Amino acid sequence: MKAIIVGGGVMGLGTAWNLAKSGHDVELFEQGPLPNPLASSMDEHRLIRHPYGNHTGYARLIDDAFAAWDELWRDLGQRLYAATGTLALTGNGADWAERSAESLQAIGRPMTELALDELPRRFPMLNSTGVEHAYWLDTGGVLFAQDITSALAHHLGQQPNVRLHSYTPIRAVDLEHGRVTTESGTVHSADVVIVAAGAWVGRLLPPAGARLVPSRQVVIYFRLPDEARAAWAQGPMVIDKTGEVGLYLVPPHDGRGMKVGDHEFSRRGDPDAAREATEAEMRPLLDRCASLLHGFDRWRIDRLKVCFYTVTEDERFVVEKQGARGWLMSPCSGHGFKFGALMGKELARTIVSERDPAAHARWAAGLEGDTK
Ligand SMILES: Cc1cc2nc3c(=O)[nH]c(=O)nc-3n(C[C@H](O)[C@H](O)[C@H](O)COP(=O)(O)OP(=O)(O)OC[C@H]3O[C@@H](n4cnc5c(N)ncnc54)[C@H](O)[C@@H]3O)c2cc1C
Repeated sequence: MKAIIVGGGVMGLGTAWNLAKSGHDVELFEQGPLPNPLASSMDEHRLIRHPYGNHTGYARLIDDAFAAWDELWRDLGQRLYAATGTLALTGNGADWAERSAESLQAIGRPMTELALDELPRRFPMLNSTGVEHAYWLDTGGVLFAQDITSALAHHLGQQPNVRLHSYTPIRAVDLEHGRVTTESGTVHSADVVIVAAGAWVGRLLPPAGARLVPSRQVVIYFRLPDEARAAWAQGPMVIDKTGEVGLYLVPPHDGRGMKVGDHEFSRRGDPDAAREATEAEMRPLLDRCASLLHGFDRWRIDRLKVCFYTVTEDERFVVEKQGARGWLMSPCSGHGFKFGALMGKELARTIVSERDPAAHARWAAGLEGDTK
């Protein structure tokens, strides 16, 4: 079988990895360099964690996601991951951490509720004022996203049954007949065409664009005083829903950056437009950092990075068969990277074994065993 994949982010590359591994021919087209720094998959890190609010279906997939990453580490000969554990804080009327704790209890992976007076002792770098509940889970950590994406592209470039085309934008796809047309007008055909075009998907498949909305997001990288950096380099990922904005904090393990972002969807922006961000648009996040992080007045902004989510209304992934020979693959909504290896593995399996596409779409949408 021959597959064509449009898009060289973690989803396209993850699917190529698995199809090629099972002996199939793969041709992958990427509009920019491979990997493309503008892709959602290209940031220093992405988090993987079990707590998932009441999206229990996704929480259930996390162990499989870890297993798929382990398989990738074996194939790449390197482990691009740091375990940090997960600290979830809640208060001020938010209940995401409580809902996560309930759903994880139900699937036999309970979080530990920490006594509030234990927080300063255990995490002295945090100011717990306003925190009403704190939960801890030993699992969870940081995937070194851009290193993974680069290593995967490199690995695929060495496979005899894979052809990678960088700087080759696809202008049109025909999912009925399994054809793609490049910007320069060349037509390529295959038994199956997978469109994993991230925030650009609506340009190739306009009806999908109505459901899959590009969402410009800004994250902040910080420079820390040495002692604070040393403490955080051993620190946990933090998911905080106690202030005016919810924030996630990615600790600087293995020499990577210290990053903070939020999960509030902007639902606007053009992934091809200039990607400047201003400090002013980060004000609510900076204010929350000031109240949550001890010594924050001595932290300095190192850089702001603009990146794109591709979001659905219900934050569920879209991986659907389209036409006789096509698949639309958009598992994002700002939480897809952790499933990149697993989504690629399972889509390859469904394509090869002709598993029921509707069942696959349901699985990818996190609807198996969901309580929502
Ligand atoms: C700020 C931020 C924080 C995030 N945090 C997390 C997190 O902590 N944990 C987590 O699990 N997930 C997280 N995510 C989400 C995760 O990064 C994405 O879900 C994932 O990277 C999406 O991968 P993708 O392959 O679908 O898209 P992309 O990585 O965007 O790849 C799509 C590729 O397709 C190419 N392309 C598009 N159109 C064409 C065309 N016509 N022809 C050829 N090539 C084309 C693009 O150039 C691009 O390289 C975050 C995302 C952002 C932006």
